[in-house]
Amino acid sequence: MLQRFTQALIPTVKETPAEATNASHILLMRGGFVRQIGAGIYNFLPLGLRVLRKIENVVRQEMDRAGAQEVLMPALLPGEYFKETGRWDLYGDVLFRIRDRKGGDYHLGPTHEEIITDMVRREVKSYRQLPLNLYQIQTKFRDEPRPRGGIMRGREFTMKDAYSFDVDEAGALKSYENMRDAYRRIFDRLGLTYRIVQADSGAIGGKTSAEFQVLADSGEDAIVACDACDYAANVEAAEIGQTPPGPEFPKEETREVHTPGKGAIADVAKFLKVNAKRFLKSLLYVTPASDAHPQGEVVMACVRGDHEVNEIKLANALGVREVHLATEADIERATGANVGYAGPIGFAGRVLVDPGGAELTNAVTGANKTDYHLMGVNLSRGDYKADVKDIRSASEGDPCPRCAARGESGKFKAYKGIEGGHIFILGTHYSSKMRATFLAQDGSEKPIVMGCYGIGISRLVASAVEQHHDADGIQWPQAIAPYHVHLCTLGTEPEVMQAAKGLCDALVERGIDVLWDDRDERPGVKFKDADLVGLPWRVTIGAKTLARSECELKARSNRDPKGHELLTLADAPEAIAVKLGMGR
Ligand code: ATP
Ligand code: MG
Repeated sequence: MLQRFTQALIPTVKETPAEATNASHILLMRGGFVRQIGAGIYNFLPLGLRVLRKIENVVRQEMDRAGAQEVLMPALLPGEYFKETGRWDLYGDVLFRIRDRKGGDYHLGPTHEEIITDMVRREVKSYRQLPLNLYQIQTKFRDEPRPRGGIMRGREFTMKDAYSFDVDEAGALKSYENMRDAYRRIFDRLGLTYRIVQADSGAIGGKTSAEFQVLADSGEDAIVACDACDYAANVEAAEIGQTPPGPEFPKEETREVHTPGKGAIADVAKFLKVNAKRFLKSLLYVTPASDAHPQGEVVMACVRGDHEVNEIKLANALGVREVHLATEADIERATGANVGYAGPIGFAGRVLVDPGGAELTNAVTGANKTDYHLMGVNLSRGDYKADVKDIRSASEGDPCPRCAARGESGKFKAYKGIEGGHIFILGTHYSSKMRATFLAQDGSEKPIVMGCYGIGISRLVASAVEQHHDADGIQWPQAIAPYHVHLCTLGTEPEVMQAAKGLCDALVERGIDVLWDDRDERPGVKFKDADLVGLPWRVTIGAKTLARSECELKARSNRDPKGHELLTLADAPEAIAVKLGMGR
């Protein structure tokens, strides 16, 4: 299709909007793709909507191809369904709650597990009707505590959510893998660089789940990915490969050293002239109150001096919901010393140590005595008692668990990611609560086994920009660019306009979408806007090129100011079509 700039609403602006910090937010505002009307609430202007629709269409095609069927559930939901599963209370302030005129409880849908489970329990009675996969592309509402990054984290946003229904776990796993393959095709087609990331550590309530993380420095999620195989995981969930222990050193006697006023590892390390990697960092955490520990249990977590304790892994290792760092007062009470001098020897409570800390020879630790440390501490000799557990965050350079298990040497690289999609086996969590059952082949009644699969369609618009931009503007991947070609006419003489119109018609005839900047503006203004809006190809026609029956073609990704080629007007349509992979 052809869109003339003079007839379009493309309000580009030079100024960087004050509230915007990340590149996608700035460029989508400056390029006239979206406009904010409230915190986390955005209008999509024509260019933004075209990108959104292109992403939707790729998602729709791949979901259909995977055998899922599209439905549409309401955004306005009676409260009874979330009350049935307890999420009416669990969702807390994130749920947008509404009262109708009769005083009934309603809310806007943040996700639709309950509603689809209700749909299926009404309609599906027999194993013969399973498996089933239903999806929708729809607006979701979440009163996020911190909406940020423009449409990246909105309070109203577009999501594709799919739900699978199977007769058993094996079937659910097959549906899950089918969705994972569909997601791979979607993210590949959208031109995004991503990693499929293990999302939960699995120690507590371990369900199969993975996130599709779009790699970007501005991402909120810290992930590690192997440089040799395709293992990737959230830093919190990543297992760390075990490597054979290093060379044995002779074990020294444990001895107390005076370290006055040196609590921090960096200071003690310098003072004792010992590398921080030889330290056993000992941190105290408190578990939630329980019958056995009405005040919460104070436990010690030890890791090598250059490693970080991971609170999620620690909580999993302890079998508790969460842990909190102990307060200064707790620490002083538990160790009898000031903060900075805790260590496992002589500590009265439970001690957990990470494998990296456990294998230290002649470690340095706090002495549980103000102004004193211990040197020559060895767990292997039984100097202290501890459970050895993986309780630290993975970091760059750590061995990959899969590779290590095969005796190979893949290592982690660290990335930041944006969660673009999430796939999840739900099991019978919702179907049991809502009694969505079916009659099995053996005549018994069983709960349906479910999975759920989300993609943040509007978030992907922003994610694509995070990955594809430079200082001048966006560089849309072809699959989701609002138009394929940005045609700039220089001057408005009838011959120029006529030649441009002829080129447009020939391009449109080949299925190419053209944005024609037909404004009476200086070339500099037009080129700046073309760079900002970021269509893959720019074509320029002016009196000068026309005199030779030519036009200029330049890729948005080509940063060489002279990086254009000259095409005859006769050859241009097919040549451009070939570049787009749309040739005859
Ligand atoms: P996050 O951890 O980023 O808050 P989530 O885990 O709560 O996301 P899901 O419930 O898994 O999100 O939703 C499925 C997908 O919807 C996410 O993978 C993400 O791409 C998208 N999404 C979630 N919240 C938002 C939001 N506030 N704005 C835009 N997209 C969102
Ligand atoms: Mg998620």
